[in-house]
Amino acid sequence: MTREIAVIGAGPAGLMAAEVLASPDTTVTVYERMPSPARKLLMAGRGGLNLTHSEPLDIFLGRYAPRDAAGQSIREAVKSYGPETVVAWANGLGQPTFTGSSGRIFPKAMKASPLLRAWLRRLDAQGVRLALGHTWTGWSQDGGLAFIRSDASPLVAHPDATLLALGGASWPRLGSSGAWLSTLAGRGVDTRAFAPSNCGVGIAWSEIFRSRFEGEPLKRIAIACGDSRVRGEALITRRGLEGGAVYALSNEIRKQMAADGGRAALTVDLRPDLTPSDLAAKLAAPRQKQSTSTFLRKAIGLPPPAIALLREATAELPAQPYALADLIKAVPLVVTALDGLDRAISSVGGVALEAVDEAFMLRAIPGVFVAGEMVDWDAPTGGYLLQASFATAVAAARGLQGWLTAR
Ligand SMILES: Cc1cc2nc3c(=O)[nH]c(=O)nc-3n(C[C@H](O)[C@H](O)[C@H](O)COP(=O)(O)OP(=O)(O)OC[C@H]3O[C@@H](n4cnc5c(N)ncnc54)[C@H](O)[C@@H]3O)c2cc1C
Repeated sequence: MTREIAVIGAGPAGLMAAEVLASPDTTVTVYERMPSPARKLLMAGRGGLNLTHSEPLDIFLGRYAPRDAAGQSIREAVKSYGPETVVAWANGLGQPTFTGSSGRIFPKAMKASPLLRAWLRRLDAQGVRLALGHTWTGWSQDGGLAFIRSDASPLVAHPDATLLALGGASWPRLGSSGAWLSTLAGRGVDTRAFAPSNCGVGIAWSEIFRSRFEGEPLKRIAIACGDSRVRGEALITRRGLEGGAVYALSNEIRKQMAADGGRAALTVDLRPDLTPSDLAAKLAAPRQKQSTSTFLRKAIGLPPPAIALLREATAELPAQPYALADLIKAVPLVVTALDGLDRAISSVGGVALEAVDEAFMLRAIPGVFVAGEMVDWDAPTGGYLLQASFATAVAAARGLQGWLTAR
């Protein structure tokens, strides 16, 4: 007997689930509201498509929040379908990968389109049907899946099982708007409101700093918020700061803003590789007739945006080497806003981890499985988001197969 499976959402999680579920005795249809699949994956490709990361697995798994028992299912999924499997999978699609100096893994093509083309060809050969322009709106009176097609006509499907891979709520114009949250909540599923993650922060720059340094990078820095400290780089923007080091602190910044009336304190270490006393020793060298900027550039290698950031923090730079070193190690900044969902790389919120069983089936709706960013987990940039989207899709697809077999 042929079984019908509906996968809703043609992002990386939905397509990966379809790949696992496709078999000669199963008809898999992937429903997607947009006119073309995987728009967010293609957007991720603009930054080179960071597929995963090469660090040791125990460190890798520690990147996922929640860090308590609730997040265990995400870590188990990533353990079962880990970075090496993702690399082998990309290779299998004719997309060899390389590991960058930061340990991040990318396809050599540094974009998503060749990988996606090869993937869609393979899914087609596996018999997976792609139903584009189909927006899922919930369940019909008789328990079927209700869709509105792009020509406004309705469709009701009655699959044997359903896998939802509807994505989070960031960059809604790429397809994932999170509009499904109330539909699932209405069926008794425990859901959490969406909030931006891996997003830029707002800082009230002076007009002179903003106009001169917008678009300039701050390289090889470390940023701290509360007890969390991240090395990396950031980009000075019109509104504040963006980039990996800032994104990785989103969780901490969000918590501090909630506790502190909408403000969070950051400190930027402009020379994380030097101790304060090493720095002070270099700053104690005679300046001769050099301007302060020339001296800071030559003595400790600070580029103009870093020197300007120091001046942004204090009207007058300390003359005493130790005091100056302390400032360079911890330039204080105040975050007054987080970028919204429309610009965030990812979101938190969605289906609560408590709402799904170990096979990623919704406890409230047996036979409906969930995967990818629509589930409420969090991770920094660095390949961890795609890695978990793939891994939870594989876990949910296997869970669905097990559920169908046991019926
Ligand atoms: C600019 C940018 C760069 C990024 N770069 C990286 C990176 O380099 N590395 C990394 O690991 N991660 C990156 N990410 C994050 C990564 O792309 C996402 O985490 C990942 O795409 C999530 O996969 P998903 O399948 O769960 O959801 P999505 O990719 O969002 O796919 C969900 C799909 O479901 C469809 N859908 C939603 N609702 C409905 C409905 N009601 N009916 C039918 N279809 C529906 C959507 O249209 C969408 O196609 C980036 C994100 C952005 C925005």
